[in-house]
Amino acid sequence: MSVQDTQDAWDQFLKYVKNHCSAAAFGNWLAPIKVLESTDDGIRLEVPNVFVKEYLLSNYKKDLKLFLAVNTAGEPLIEFVIAAPEKKSLVNPPVQNELHLGAQNADAHEVKLNENYRFETFIEGPTNMFVKSAAIGVATRPGQSYNLLFIHGGVGLGKTHILHSIGHYVKDHHKKLRVQCITTEAFINDLVDSLRNKSVDKMKRFYRSDVDVLLVDDIQFLQNRLNFEEEFCHTFETLINQKKQIVITSDKPPSQLKLSERLIARMEWGLVAHVGMPDLETRVAILQHKAHQKGLEIPNNVAFFIAEHIYNNVRQLEGAVNRLCAHCKLLDLNITEELVEKTLREMLQQAPNKKISVEQILKSVAAVFQVRVSDLKGATRTKDIALPRQVAMYLAYKMINESLQMLGASFGKTHSTILHACKTIEKKVATNDVLRRQIGMVERNIAA
Ligand code: ADP
Ligand code: MG
Repeated sequence: MSVQDTQDAWDQFLKYVKNHCSAAAFGNWLAPIKVLESTDDGIRLEVPNVFVKEYLLSNYKKDLKLFLAVNTAGEPLIEFVIAAPEKKSLVNPPVQNELHLGAQNADAHEVKLNENYRFETFIEGPTNMFVKSAAIGVATRPGQSYNLLFIHGGVGLGKTHILHSIGHYVKDHHKKLRVQCITTEAFINDLVDSLRNKSVDKMKRFYRSDVDVLLVDDIQFLQNRLNFEEEFCHTFETLINQKKQIVITSDKPPSQLKLSERLIARMEWGLVAHVGMPDLETRVAILQHKAHQKGLEIPNNVAFFIAEHIYNNVRQLEGAVNRLCAHCKLLDLNITEELVEKTLREMLQQAPNKKISVEQILKSVAAVFQVRVSDLKGATRTKDIALPRQVAMYLAYKMINESLQMLGASFGKTHSTILHACKTIEKKVATNDVLRRQIGMVERNIAA
């Protein structure tokens, strides 16, 4: 291939892609690529960051092979060059007092790491083992294993605990590395402040060149904050390009966040780890651990009793221990199941007159059966959705004083579908202990 041919081939490729992807995707991913050199045997491309390279290769490798020359192994002959970070910081290394100001500015919103949130105090079980070992991996070799760790999971399941554990570990073991822990809100506040003080450049420089490990809590708050999203994205790319470490927590996986395609793609590029609700045994272990920290010993049967009743939030489990602890100390009582029941009644209570809605039932069923409410409302007929959906209908009929017609309408189904679900579940419950227990959990959860 001649030099001109190579350049032409690249142009052809771009034209082809333009017709095969959205304008936004093209603008984000393909447009920023620059041809540095095209020679007889290949092309040298400058990409703004490693994501663009990954994107190109993972989405268009097959096409690249068609348009461009390939080597003996059949791989397209492309050499990638990552663009240098912003010129400013290269040409003018930030002067000392500016840096200081920047740091001060950031300090204002920095989160102090919670002393109790350490790896040693994070009890692991099947649902959080993966995330814990990923976090330990990142903490022992910041910036080396995965530049980006994305932790997601429901409320009160230990995301912040793990994030701070990483911070502590790095501070203890890599004294030279600069750790910055922020909440997304704080990051936004920082930006707003520095916009007001006209010190945006300082702030940007701080986050982009004065931090080795950036810990960002609750990225979901970036949703619907368009202006800030872009700034975050830049910071993020700069740090990744410098092989720094970023850890992000979120209440949803990247794909479910309402953020730009570009930012989502960056986050998915990292190691994505889910933290789930601990199973019964792990909940008991957490409970015992928290009680022990407070100088309280809880008998096993009591611990199981509590852990069986509180199953969707570790923070609540902790609340139960605290309440129990206060109660026992105050009255100098021994912990028995009876006392637990009495003390925790409010938490575990069946509220007799509360009006229950279909939405509540759907939420509880979704939590216990680990499916999405939207799936329950949808039309999927796979078994793992159909069964919980029938459970929801059955419970709605049992717990809500409404006609079959009315209930059918709230599910978008006919009255006979509801009736059929009730019969099916009743039959199953008679012989299936697991299902009976699950339904019991849903009922208690709704009443709580
Ligand atoms: P999230 O950030 O996911 O909402 P947190 O990290 O704030 O949750 O955790 C809530 C509480 O539960 C914290 O006090 C934390 O220490 C505790 N916790 C959660 N998971 C565990 C665990 N596996 N072992 C010990 N404590 C835990
Ligand atoms: Mg949190």
